[in-house]
Amino acid sequence: MTHLTLQAVTKRFHAAYAVDHVDLAVPDGKLVCFLGPSGCGKTTLLRIIAGLETASSGTVAFAGRDLTDVPANRRDFGMVFQSLALFPHMTVAQNIAYPLRLRRVGKEAEASRVAELLDLIRLPHMADRPVSRLSGGQRQRVAIARAIASSPKLLLLDEPLSALDAKLREAMQVEIRLLQQRLGITTIMVTHDQREAMTMADEIVVMEKGRIAQVGKPLDIYRNPVSEFVADFIGLGNILPVTLEGGDRIALPGGQQIVVDAAPPARGAAGDVRLLIRPEDVCMRTAVNGAVDPGPNVLAGKVAFIRDVGASLEATIDCAGVTLTAATTPRETPDLRIGMPVFAELPPHACKLIAARTAH
Ligand code: ATP
Repeated sequence: MTHLTLQAVTKRFHAAYAVDHVDLAVPDGKLVCFLGPSGCGKTTLLRIIAGLETASSGTVAFAGRDLTDVPANRRDFGMVFQSLALFPHMTVAQNIAYPLRLRRVGKEAEASRVAELLDLIRLPHMADRPVSRLSGGQRQRVAIARAIASSPKLLLLDEPLSALDAKLREAMQVEIRLLQQRLGITTIMVTHDQREAMTMADEIVVMEKGRIAQVGKPLDIYRNPVSEFVADFIGLGNILPVTLEGGDRIALPGGQQIVVDAAPPARGAAGDVRLLIRPEDVCMRTAVNGAVDPGPNVLAGKVAFIRDVGASLEATIDCAGVTLTAATTPRETPDLRIGMPVFAELPPHACKLIAARTAH
Protein backbone atom coordinates (compact mmCIF):
# COMPACT_ATOMS: atom_id res chain seq x y z
CA MET A 1 0.00 0.00 0.00
CA THR A 2 1.24 3.48 -0.83
CA HIS A 3 1.24 5.79 2.11
CA LEU A 4 2.58 9.08 0.83
CA THR A 5 1.99 10.35 -2.68
CA LEU A 6 3.53 13.42 -4.26
CA GLN A 7 2.16 14.71 -7.53
CA ALA A 8 3.99 17.31 -9.60
CA VAL A 9 5.30 18.97 -6.44
CA THR A 10 7.15 22.13 -7.37
CA LYS A 11 8.82 24.85 -5.30
CA ARG A 12 10.16 28.03 -6.81
CA PHE A 13 12.21 30.54 -4.87
CA HIS A 14 11.80 33.62 -7.06
CA ALA A 15 12.60 32.33 -10.54
CA ALA A 16 14.68 29.31 -9.45
CA TYR A 17 13.21 25.84 -9.10
CA ALA A 18 14.33 24.19 -5.84
CA VAL A 19 11.92 21.28 -6.50
CA ASP A 20 10.75 20.71 -10.03
CA HIS A 21 7.61 18.62 -10.73
CA VAL A 22 8.37 15.72 -8.41
CA ASP A 23 6.10 12.65 -8.56
CA LEU A 24 6.72 10.02 -5.93
CA ALA A 25 4.95 7.19 -4.12
CA VAL A 26 6.37 6.09 -0.75
CA PRO A 27 5.14 2.63 0.26
CA ASP A 28 3.89 1.75 3.71
CA GLY A 29 6.50 0.77 6.29
CA LYS A 30 9.53 1.49 4.10
CA LEU A 31 12.55 3.66 4.69
CA VAL A 32 13.17 5.94 1.73
CA CYS A 33 16.26 8.14 1.39
CA PHE A 34 16.37 11.39 -0.55
CA LEU A 35 19.94 11.44 -1.80
CA GLY A 36 21.77 14.03 -3.84
CA PRO A 37 24.43 16.72 -3.84
CA SER A 38 24.11 19.96 -1.91
CA GLY A 39 21.38 22.23 -3.26
CA CYS A 40 19.50 19.55 -5.23
CA GLY A 41 16.29 20.19 -3.28
CA LYS A 42 16.21 17.32 -0.76
CA THR A 43 15.50 19.43 2.31
CA THR A 44 12.97 21.62 0.53
CA LEU A 45 11.06 18.52 -0.58
CA LEU A 46 11.13 17.07 2.93
CA ARG A 47 9.91 20.38 4.38
CA ILE A 48 7.03 20.43 1.90
CA ILE A 49 6.04 16.92 3.03
CA ALA A 50 6.31 18.07 6.66
CA GLY A 51 4.14 21.12 5.96
CA LEU A 52 6.93 23.52 6.95
CA GLU A 53 7.18 24.86 3.41
CA THR A 54 4.34 25.53 1.00
CA ALA A 55 4.70 24.08 -2.49
CA SER A 56 4.31 26.52 -5.37
CA SER A 57 2.18 23.86 -7.06
CA GLY A 58 1.43 20.13 -6.86
CA THR A 59 -0.15 17.98 -4.19
CA VAL A 60 0.94 15.96 -1.17
CA ALA A 61 -1.42 13.18 -0.08
CA PHE A 62 -1.11 10.75 2.81
CA ALA A 63 -3.17 7.56 3.07
CA GLY A 64 -5.45 8.98 0.40
CA ARG A 65 -5.99 12.33 2.12
CA ASP A 66 -4.88 15.58 0.46
CA LEU A 67 -2.57 17.37 2.88
CA THR A 68 -1.78 20.38 0.77
CA ASP A 69 -3.61 22.81 3.08
CA VAL A 70 -3.08 20.93 6.36
CA PRO A 71 -0.62 22.77 8.68
CA ALA A 72 2.49 20.98 9.98
CA ASN A 73 1.16 20.47 13.51
CA ARG A 74 -1.94 18.71 12.14
CA ARG A 75 -0.08 16.26 9.94
CA ASP A 76 0.83 13.79 12.68
CA PHE A 77 4.38 13.37 11.42
CA GLY A 78 7.48 12.94 13.59
CA MET A 79 10.55 14.93 12.67
CA VAL A 80 14.23 14.94 13.50
CA PHE A 81 16.43 17.71 12.12
CA GLN A 82 20.16 18.04 11.72
CA SER A 83 20.26 20.27 14.82
CA LEU A 84 18.07 17.76 16.77
CA ALA A 85 16.42 20.77 18.49
CA LEU A 86 16.25 19.09 21.91
CA PHE A 87 15.46 21.27 24.93
CA PRO A 88 18.85 21.49 26.69
CA HIS A 89 17.47 22.50 30.10
CA MET A 90 15.13 19.50 30.20
CA THR A 91 15.93 15.92 31.15
CA VAL A 92 15.86 13.00 28.76
CA ALA A 93 12.42 11.93 30.03
CA GLN A 94 11.03 15.47 29.83
CA ASN A 95 12.22 15.84 26.25
CA ILE A 96 10.59 12.57 25.24
CA ALA A 97 7.39 13.46 27.12
CA TYR A 98 7.11 16.87 25.47
CA PRO A 99 4.91 15.89 22.49
CA LEU A 100 2.74 13.77 24.84
CA ARG A 101 2.20 16.81 27.09
CA LEU A 102 1.12 18.84 24.09
CA ARG A 103 -1.47 16.18 23.40
CA ARG A 104 -2.52 15.99 27.04
CA VAL A 105 -2.40 12.21 27.12
CA GLY A 106 -2.66 12.03 30.92
CA LYS A 107 0.02 11.40 33.54
CA GLU A 108 -0.15 7.61 33.62
CA ALA A 109 -0.20 7.10 29.87
CA GLU A 110 2.65 9.57 29.57
CA ALA A 111 4.80 7.79 32.17
CA SER A 112 4.29 4.38 30.63
CA ARG A 113 4.97 5.62 27.08
CA VAL A 114 8.15 7.41 28.20
CA ALA A 115 9.34 4.25 29.98
CA GLU A 116 8.63 2.21 26.87
CA LEU A 117 10.58 4.65 24.67
CA LEU A 118 13.50 4.80 27.10
CA ASP A 119 13.73 1.02 26.84
CA LEU A 120 13.48 1.18 23.08
CA ILE A 121 16.43 3.57 22.82
CA ARG A 122 18.31 1.72 25.56
CA LEU A 123 18.60 4.70 27.90
CA PRO A 124 16.29 3.82 30.83
CA HIS A 125 19.04 4.63 33.32
CA MET A 126 19.39 8.16 31.95
CA ALA A 127 15.79 9.33 32.29
CA ASP A 128 16.65 12.12 34.73
CA ARG A 129 19.83 13.35 33.10
CA PRO A 130 19.73 16.74 31.36
CA VAL A 131 20.23 16.24 27.62
CA SER A 132 23.13 18.71 27.75
CA ARG A 133 25.07 15.98 29.56
CA LEU A 134 24.62 13.27 26.93
CA SER A 135 26.95 12.07 24.17
CA GLY A 136 26.14 12.79 20.52
CA GLY A 137 24.77 9.30 19.93
CA GLN A 138 22.63 9.39 23.07
CA ARG A 139 21.18 12.78 22.06
CA GLN A 140 20.42 11.33 18.68
CA ARG A 141 18.44 8.51 20.24
CA VAL A 142 16.51 10.92 22.47
CA ALA A 143 15.60 13.03 19.43
CA ILE A 144 14.26 9.94 17.69
CA ALA A 145 12.34 8.81 20.77
CA ARG A 146 10.75 12.26 21.01
CA ALA A 147 9.86 12.20 17.32
CA ILE A 148 8.09 8.85 17.60
CA ALA A 149 6.58 9.41 21.08
CA SER A 150 3.09 10.12 19.83
CA SER A 151 3.20 7.23 17.32
CA PRO A 152 3.33 9.33 14.16
CA LYS A 153 2.31 7.77 10.87
CA LEU A 154 5.40 9.08 9.13
CA LEU A 155 8.89 9.83 10.39
CA LEU A 156 10.90 12.54 8.62
CA LEU A 157 14.64 12.72 9.22
CA ASP A 158 16.76 15.54 7.80
CA GLU A 159 20.46 14.61 7.90
CA PRO A 160 20.00 13.43 11.50
CA LEU A 161 23.50 11.94 11.74
CA SER A 162 25.57 14.67 10.16
CA ALA A 163 26.96 16.01 13.45
CA LEU A 164 28.38 12.63 14.51
CA ASP A 165 31.86 11.29 13.88
CA ALA A 166 32.27 8.57 11.25
CA LYS A 167 32.25 5.57 13.57
CA LEU A 168 29.28 6.62 15.68
CA ARG A 169 27.47 7.64 12.54
CA GLU A 170 27.81 4.13 11.10
CA ALA A 171 26.63 2.58 14.36
CA MET A 172 23.61 4.89 14.48
CA GLN A 173 22.71 4.07 10.88
CA VAL A 174 22.29 0.44 11.85
CA GLU A 175 20.48 1.35 15.08
CA ILE A 176 17.95 3.65 13.39
CA ARG A 177 17.36 1.14 10.62
CA LEU A 178 16.70 -1.70 13.08
CA LEU A 179 14.37 0.50 15.13
CA GLN A 180 12.50 1.60 12.01
CA GLN A 181 12.06 -2.00 10.90
CA ARG A 182 10.93 -3.09 14.36
CA LEU A 183 8.32 -0.34 14.52
CA GLY A 184 7.41 -0.63 10.84
CA ILE A 185 7.15 3.15 10.63
CA THR A 186 7.25 4.70 7.17
CA THR A 187 10.33 6.92 7.16
CA ILE A 188 11.87 9.45 4.81
CA MET A 189 15.44 10.46 5.43
CA VAL A 190 17.46 13.15 3.71
CA THR A 191 21.17 12.48 3.26
CA HIS A 192 23.96 13.48 0.91
CA ASP A 193 25.96 10.40 1.92
CA GLN A 194 25.50 7.58 -0.56
CA ARG A 195 26.95 4.96 1.79
CA GLU A 196 24.42 5.98 4.42
CA ALA A 197 21.60 5.68 1.89
CA MET A 198 22.86 2.29 0.69
CA THR A 199 23.07 1.04 4.29
CA MET A 200 19.67 2.19 5.45
CA ALA A 201 17.20 2.55 2.60
CA ASP A 202 14.61 0.23 1.13
CA GLU A 203 14.45 2.71 -1.70
CA ILE A 204 16.67 5.58 -2.75
CA VAL A 205 15.39 8.67 -4.52
CA VAL A 206 18.39 10.22 -6.27
CA MET A 207 17.82 13.93 -6.86
CA GLU A 208 19.55 16.25 -9.29
CA LYS A 209 18.72 19.94 -9.64
CA GLY A 210 15.27 19.68 -8.08
CA ARG A 211 14.24 16.64 -10.09
CA ILE A 212 14.23 12.92 -9.47
CA ALA A 213 17.10 11.38 -11.40
CA GLN A 214 16.26 7.77 -10.40
CA VAL A 215 14.21 5.85 -7.85
CA GLY A 216 14.95 2.27 -6.91
CA LYS A 217 16.34 -0.28 -4.52
CA PRO A 218 19.92 0.59 -3.51
CA LEU A 219 21.57 -2.30 -5.34
CA ASP A 220 19.44 -1.85 -8.46
CA ILE A 221 20.54 1.77 -8.69
CA TYR A 222 24.14 0.79 -8.03
CA ARG A 223 24.05 -1.92 -10.68
CA ASN A 224 21.87 -0.15 -13.24
CA PRO A 225 22.20 3.62 -12.97
CA VAL A 226 20.19 5.41 -15.64
CA SER A 227 22.67 8.22 -16.19
CA GLU A 228 26.26 9.25 -15.73
CA PHE A 229 25.18 11.55 -12.88
CA VAL A 230 23.63 8.64 -10.93
CA ALA A 231 26.52 6.28 -11.76
CA ASP A 232 28.99 8.84 -10.50
CA PHE A 233 27.04 9.73 -7.37
CA ILE A 234 26.36 6.16 -6.21
CA GLY A 235 29.50 4.25 -5.32
CA LEU A 236 32.89 4.23 -6.94
CA GLY A 237 32.94 3.64 -10.64
CA ASN A 238 35.17 3.65 -13.66
CA ILE A 239 33.34 5.88 -16.12
CA LEU A 240 35.05 6.15 -19.51
CA PRO A 241 34.08 7.94 -22.72
CA VAL A 242 33.78 5.30 -25.42
CA THR A 243 32.81 5.05 -29.09
CA LEU A 244 30.38 2.50 -30.46
CA GLU A 245 32.07 0.42 -33.14
CA GLY A 246 29.02 -1.55 -34.25
CA GLY A 247 27.59 -4.80 -32.90
CA ASP A 248 28.81 -5.45 -29.40
CA ARG A 249 32.15 -3.71 -29.86
CA ILE A 250 33.22 -0.44 -28.29
CA ALA A 251 36.50 1.47 -28.43
CA LEU A 252 38.11 2.75 -25.24
CA PRO A 253 39.86 6.15 -25.07
CA GLY A 254 43.22 4.55 -25.90
CA GLY A 255 41.75 2.97 -29.04
CA GLN A 256 41.61 -0.62 -27.76
CA GLN A 257 38.37 -2.37 -28.62
CA ILE A 258 36.44 -4.56 -26.21
CA VAL A 259 33.17 -6.49 -26.31
CA VAL A 260 30.22 -5.68 -24.05
CA ASP A 261 26.96 -7.50 -23.36
CA ALA A 262 25.03 -4.28 -22.71
CA ALA A 263 22.92 -2.49 -25.28
CA PRO A 264 23.78 1.17 -25.85
CA PRO A 265 21.57 3.64 -23.97
CA ALA A 266 18.48 4.79 -25.85
CA ARG A 267 19.62 8.43 -25.92
CA GLY A 268 23.22 7.65 -26.72
CA ALA A 269 24.71 8.18 -30.12
CA ALA A 270 28.41 7.61 -30.84
CA GLY A 271 30.44 10.19 -28.96
CA ASP A 272 28.21 10.69 -25.96
CA VAL A 273 28.22 7.22 -24.46
CA ARG A 274 30.06 6.22 -21.30
CA LEU A 275 31.25 2.82 -20.18
CA LEU A 276 30.61 2.10 -16.51
CA ILE A 277 32.44 -0.71 -14.77
CA ARG A 278 32.56 -0.93 -10.99
CA PRO A 279 35.99 -1.50 -9.36
CA GLU A 280 34.95 -4.87 -7.93
CA ASP A 281 34.15 -6.06 -11.47
CA VAL A 282 37.59 -5.24 -12.85
CA CYS A 283 39.56 -8.49 -12.61
CA MET A 284 43.18 -7.63 -11.98
CA ARG A 285 46.02 -10.09 -12.21
CA THR A 286 49.73 -9.65 -12.18
CA ALA A 287 51.41 -9.89 -15.57
CA VAL A 288 53.78 -12.74 -14.78
CA ASN A 289 56.73 -13.49 -17.05
CA GLY A 290 55.79 -10.71 -19.47
CA ALA A 291 52.91 -12.59 -21.15
CA VAL A 292 52.32 -11.05 -24.57
CA ASP A 293 48.74 -11.99 -25.40
CA PRO A 294 46.55 -11.21 -22.41
CA GLY A 295 43.33 -12.21 -24.26
CA PRO A 296 40.14 -10.37 -25.23
CA ASN A 297 38.72 -7.60 -23.00
CA VAL A 298 42.01 -7.40 -21.15
CA LEU A 299 44.09 -4.24 -20.83
CA ALA A 300 47.76 -4.29 -19.99
CA GLY A 301 48.89 -1.62 -17.56
CA LYS A 302 50.90 -0.67 -14.52
CA VAL A 303 49.87 -0.08 -10.93
CA ALA A 304 49.96 3.68 -10.31
CA PHE A 305 48.54 3.85 -6.78
CA ILE A 306 47.42 1.47 -4.03
CA ARG A 307 44.89 2.31 -1.34
CA ASP A 308 45.19 -0.51 1.16
CA VAL A 309 42.91 -0.09 4.17
CA GLY A 310 43.36 -3.58 5.56
CA ALA A 311 39.98 -5.12 4.77
CA SER A 312 39.93 -3.95 1.17
CA LEU A 313 42.40 -2.75 -1.41
CA GLU A 314 41.92 -0.47 -4.38
CA ALA A 315 44.54 -0.26 -7.11
CA THR A 316 44.68 2.51 -9.69
CA ILE A 317 45.96 1.04 -12.94
CA ASP A 318 47.34 3.09 -15.83
CA CYS A 319 46.65 1.32 -19.09
CA ALA A 320 47.34 2.94 -22.48
CA GLY A 321 45.00 5.95 -22.48
CA VAL A 322 42.80 4.58 -19.69
CA THR A 323 43.00 4.83 -15.91
CA LEU A 324 41.06 2.15 -14.04
CA THR A 325 40.36 1.44 -10.39
CA ALA A 326 40.22 -2.23 -9.41
CA ALA A 327 39.04 -3.46 -6.01
CA THR A 328 40.49 -6.56 -4.40
CA THR A 329 41.62 -7.54 -0.92
CA PRO A 330 45.16 -7.50 0.51
CA ARG A 331 44.80 -11.28 0.92
CA GLU A 332 44.06 -11.80 -2.78
CA THR A 333 46.90 -9.58 -4.00
CA PRO A 334 49.48 -9.60 -1.20
CA ASP A 335 52.48 -8.72 -3.37
CA LEU A 336 51.03 -5.82 -5.29
CA ARG A 337 53.47 -2.93 -5.71
CA ILE A 338 53.36 0.45 -7.39
CA GLY A 339 54.87 0.20 -10.88
CA MET A 340 54.07 -3.52 -11.17
CA PRO A 341 52.77 -4.63 -14.61
CA VAL A 342 49.24 -6.03 -14.38
CA PHE A 343 46.36 -7.10 -16.59
CA ALA A 344 42.90 -5.69 -16.04
CA GLU A 345 40.05 -7.74 -17.44
CA LEU A 346 36.71 -6.05 -18.10
CA PRO A 347 34.16 -8.90 -18.25
CA PRO A 348 31.54 -8.15 -20.95
CA HIS A 349 28.62 -8.80 -18.57
CA ALA A 350 29.94 -6.23 -16.07
CA CYS A 351 30.28 -3.44 -18.64
CA LYS A 352 27.32 -1.04 -18.72
CA LEU A 353 26.76 1.62 -21.32
CA ILE A 354 25.15 4.83 -20.14
CA ALA A 355 24.28 8.17 -21.69
CA ALA A 356 26.83 10.89 -20.99
CA ARG A 357 25.88 13.72 -18.65
CA THR A 358 24.38 16.58 -20.62
CA ALA A 359 25.70 20.04 -19.87
CA HIS A 360 23.06 22.53 -18.69
P1 ATP B 1 21.90 20.58 1.30
O1 ATP B 1 22.33 19.15 1.20
O2 ATP B 1 23.03 21.54 1.09
O3 ATP B 1 21.09 20.88 2.51
P2 ATP B 1 19.51 20.33 -0.32
O4 ATP B 1 19.59 19.31 -1.41
O5 ATP B 1 18.78 19.96 0.89
O6 ATP B 1 20.96 20.87 0.02
P3 ATP B 1 17.74 22.59 -0.45
O7 ATP B 1 18.14 23.11 0.89
O8 ATP B 1 16.43 21.95 -0.59
O9 ATP B 1 18.86 21.61 -1.01
O10 ATP B 1 17.85 23.80 -1.49
C1 ATP B 1 17.50 23.64 -2.87
C2 ATP B 1 17.73 24.97 -3.58
O11 ATP B 1 16.79 25.93 -3.10
C3 ATP B 1 19.09 25.58 -3.33
O12 ATP B 1 19.55 26.19 -4.52
C4 ATP B 1 18.85 26.60 -2.26
O13 ATP B 1 19.77 27.66 -2.35
C5 ATP B 1 17.44 27.07 -2.58
N1 ATP B 1 16.70 27.50 -1.39
C6 ATP B 1 16.38 26.73 -0.32
N2 ATP B 1 15.68 27.45 0.59
C7 ATP B 1 15.57 28.70 0.10
C8 ATP B 1 14.96 29.93 0.56
N3 ATP B 1 14.30 29.94 1.72
N4 ATP B 1 15.05 31.00 -0.23
C9 ATP B 1 15.68 30.97 -1.41
N5 ATP B 1 16.27 29.87 -1.93
C10 ATP B 1 16.23 28.75 -1.17
